[in-house]
Amino acid sequence: MSQILLKNGFIVSMNKEEQVFTQGDVLIENDRIKAVGHVEQSLVTPDVEIVDAKGKIIMPGLINTHVHTSQQLGRGLGDDVNLLTWLHERIWPYESSLTEEDSYISTLLCCLEQIRAGVTSFAEPGGQFVSGMAKAVNQIGIRAKLAKSVMDCGEGLPKVWQKTTQEELDKQEEDLRKFHNTADGRVQVWFGLRTIFNNSDDLIIKTKELADKYGVGVHMHVAEVKEEVEYALETRGATTVKHLYNLDVLDKNFLAVHTVWLTNEEVNMFKEKRVKVSHNPAAAMRVLGFAKIPRMLKEGICVTLGTDGAAASNRMDLIDEMWLTSLIHKGWRLDPTIMKAQEIIRMVTVNGAKALLEEDNIGSLEVGKKADVIIINPNSAGMLPIHDAIANLVTSMHSSNVESTMCDGKWIMKDREILTVDEDSIINEAKERAESIYKRAGIVLPHRFPYI
Ligand SMILES: [Zn+2]
Repeated sequence: MSQILLKNGFIVSMNKEEQVFTQGDVLIENDRIKAVGHVEQSLVTPDVEIVDAKGKIIMPGLINTHVHTSQQLGRGLGDDVNLLTWLHERIWPYESSLTEEDSYISTLLCCLEQIRAGVTSFAEPGGQFVSGMAKAVNQIGIRAKLAKSVMDCGEGLPKVWQKTTQEELDKQEEDLRKFHNTADGRVQVWFGLRTIFNNSDDLIIKTKELADKYGVGVHMHVAEVKEEVEYALETRGATTVKHLYNLDVLDKNFLAVHTVWLTNEEVNMFKEKRVKVSHNPAAAMRVLGFAKIPRMLKEGICVTLGTDGAAASNRMDLIDEMWLTSLIHKGWRLDPTIMKAQEIIRMVTVNGAKALLEEDNIGSLEVGKKADVIIINPNSAGMLPIHDAIANLVTSMHSSNVESTMCDGKWIMKDREILTVDEDSIINEAKERAESIYKRAGIVLPHRFPYI
């Protein structure tokens, strides 16, 4: 049995009462939280590891509900172009050129960035190699829901991606059998649906059936761009959300990403079916538009935050997304009282846990939950002073303030040092592989940086 005692910190528990403890302790035993707030000395073993958190903030590890780990080596390939150029001339050539080993390194690099920004769990909507992603997640020590990128129709798809409905379903089941609940349960496999542009109704219906059969979630880009809604209307006779509603696939294990182009009626459909939403503000501001997040929150819909992929929004930093979320809706609605800091903290903790179907395990610091914990050191010119700790976490925290990150009771980063993998060698290999993929994909950009 091993114990870790975090002492004298400002604890943001995110328990049901959203209690904070101005000076409290967190006792961790093996992979779970044993006590929070005041810790009885009788619970503590003599060989406990003690961490002094005085003047620091202890909170649940952050949850990123939408991140394309396989796009990490494609950061910067899709800037300043429209969506179709981004997709057909940049991302498809890039992603279809990846090998399994590329996907592994890309995932490691993506996880490093996330861990440094306090993320302990994420949901991946789908790369080509669940095997490569699972290996990386297992090694680095984070928690993830992985899925394959699934497409069975659509024009212009690279040859390597032209698959039948059954092939896509079989491959996902095979991945699930191999990798679900591996790495002490940290790696779980979900079902993916890319978008309605590339998914037949047969695939959508069967995917939901399989997700229910295995008790996991479905992760899908929904009503992402205006053209998508128009396409659905033209080809299926209903807008994306209405069509998914008619197919009866909207449900509490359905994670809908972006959800920008929804009518109020469709927001109500999400509410009725208890669909979970992943809001990605940076990606939304770049190309998609404003999602009706304040309305969704008012209706009690479970809204969470995601970074999207590095080829889409460049920064896989959930702390930046928190800050952006607090700003963009205020500006759009001309109402500085909406999107309060407490709501945004909820999105990256308890709501994230619900969206990942893990509310009993993660998302808050409570006795019996998994020990996914971060320590924030606010003593920097960029974060101080703190007059309201919850507000500062959203408005002035930077990823550099995350001092330590723990997942499943184990330190992944302690005092800014990554302990589970060799960070320098991953960065070096990522540079070499990125250069090689760029050449294979045949993309040509100006201002190439001579990093090798
Ligand atoms: Zn995405």
